[in-house]
Amino acid sequence: MRDVVIVGAGPAGLAAAIYAGRYERRPLVVDAQGVGGQMLLTTDIDNYPGFPEGIRGAELASLMQQQAERFGAEFLLEPVLGVDFSGKPLRLRLGSGQLEARTVILAPGTSRRKLGVPGEQELAGRGVSYCATCDGFFFRGKVVAVVGGGDSALEEALVLTRYASKVYLVHRRDQWRAAPVLQEQVRRNEKIEFIWNSVVTEIHGPQEVTAVTLRNVVTGEVSRLPTDGVFIFVGHIPNSEIFRGQLDMDENGYIITDKRTRTNIPGVFAAGEVADPIFRQNVTSAGEGARAAIEATRWLAELEAGLPASVEDRALPR
Ligand code: NAP
Repeated sequence: MRDVVIVGAGPAGLAAAIYAGRYERRPLVVDAQGVGGQMLLTTDIDNYPGFPEGIRGAELASLMQQQAERFGAEFLLEPVLGVDFSGKPLRLRLGSGQLEARTVILAPGTSRRKLGVPGEQELAGRGVSYCATCDGFFFRGKVVAVVGGGDSALEEALVLTRYASKVYLVHRRDQWRAAPVLQEQVRRNEKIEFIWNSVVTEIHGPQEVTAVTLRNVVTGEVSRLPTDGVFIFVGHIPNSEIFRGQLDMDENGYIITDKRTRTNIPGVFAAGEVADPIFRQNVTSAGEGARAAIEATRWLAELEAGLPASVEDRALPR
């Protein structure tokens, strides 16, 4: 039986671990993907406070882990296969057995959304990628297409210019939603060519990516763009599937919390992107992780003092 189990080791889970550790609750952090979450998919993080020159994503993750371990946090690199929040204690089913907890902080983050076009699944890992930081190296001197118009697409397009000879940036509208600073950097980069108002309708192989079919959504024109790789950044979906039916979620699968990170189940808190369809920044996720850990430890203290206050006031406005 653990006091605090944290599901997910991204910025939210790690910040929660630091806080719960400092409250001497010896938190256990469970994540099958390793420690760092999406920080591991980011080359440089430029907007995390405290690092005026930026910091490598993997380095920031490692520093957060060290900090959490200094306060007694433990890490388990295992998948959470299922949960049972119907009674107390809270139960989690892991690959190696069952875990019982008095409080659980859910911080499993989000995953990259797929395009869902023919060829995408078949050619994944053979030219289709969702991570320029991880796979960009394999496209040295080659031509790649990046799909999307948000921060991720523009940031990753810039990363790819370090390797590729040419980067097409394909977006379904005629303006990006990415931050102005990224837009400016992309516009100034001569390796990047923009293709507006266009969607990828098929990715062609057969063995490796050779081309994509584009459809112009304004004119209806269909064309074929030769490319060695397709990098897809069309948003994220919350990693909440295993909690479905156990917790309140919105129609897109984001876990619903109140302003104090509390879910509808007493003792279960959620932090980071899985509960945040809006901000989704490293720093906001870390902040929510800290809040969730403060709430979880407060909840434990109330339980230990025999005060059912948190149960009573969980009907606070969301
Ligand atoms: P996002 O902001 O949701 O952008 C997704 C992009 O994909 C949009 O441009 C969208 O087009 C496009 N798209 C969605 N579905 C599509 C489809 N089926 N076909 C073609 N295009 C499609 O996602 P994100 O860029 O991954 O960013 C997610 C969050 O993380 C944001 O809050 C972002 O600010 C944050 N983030 C921050 C940083 C940073 O601060 N450095 C870096 C990365 C991400 P429309 O524009 O037409 O909707």
